[in-house]
Amino acid sequence: MGKYAILVNSMQILTSLLNLAYPPVCGICDKKLNTIKEQKLSVCDECLVLIKKNPAPYCFKCGRSMRGLSEAVKICWECSKREFSYERSWSAFIYDGVVKKALHLLKYSNKISLSGLFCGMLADFIGANTEVVRKMDAVIAVPLHGIKFREREFNQANLLASAVVKASDIKDLSGCLKRGVATRPQSGLDKGERFENIKGAFSVTREACLKGKNLLLVDDLFTTGATLNECASALKKAGANRINCLTFARGA
Ligand SMILES: [Zn+2]
Ligand SMILES: [Zn+2]
Repeated sequence: MGKYAILVNSMQILTSLLNLAYPPVCGICDKKLNTIKEQKLSVCDECLVLIKKNPAPYCFKCGRSMRGLSEAVKICWECSKREFSYERSWSAFIYDGVVKKALHLLKYSNKISLSGLFCGMLADFIGANTEVVRKMDAVIAVPLHGIKFREREFNQANLLASAVVKASDIKDLSGCLKRGVATRPQSGLDKGERFENIKGAFSVTREACLKGKNLLLVDDLFTTGATLNECASALKKAGANRINCLTFARGA
């Protein structure tokens, strides 16, 4: 037996022993995980089936499901009354129940074990909706303000952007967009206040990298689209060509 085979065997034995001592549990509900598939995702099957997909087709601007409406309708009534700085937006899942709980655990309890689940599900969505990344040059994660980043130690949008890179082969230019102004949290504000509160919060660090580029903005949550719109506006001012947006989930 070669050195490599011995090492692999020892690792497998060690993993089995660790599993016996500390059985892997679901990152969302803490139930013991039984199958290899559950253990790979760190989530149990019961939680997995409760994740609600956002069914196609979608409003081009807010990503809301337009199921049941004529395919000829591209923009919902609410979005038809507004101007947008980006071209299209998609949200993969519905933000309630299990998705809401999992996202809270990832963001506020640092449950990094759930990263695989989020990245895997986003990659599946891109696989089924290839127009999200078609003709895109790069992905950009919506940045957190420096203070929040230090509190939380990681940005969930960067994690999702890395999943896009893996699923599509486009590069990550997240470093080109920064959040300069520490705005009030958007939660608790109404739609108009959200657009006002976020104004001027983003700036571009390397304009030359963005000129003429088609960019995919990525974030965890779509609520009113105010944050994505403001990011897109800063990127367009810097000379970006087309902007698409992809969020993991949107409000029901
Ligand atoms: Zn579970
Ligand atoms: Zn809409």
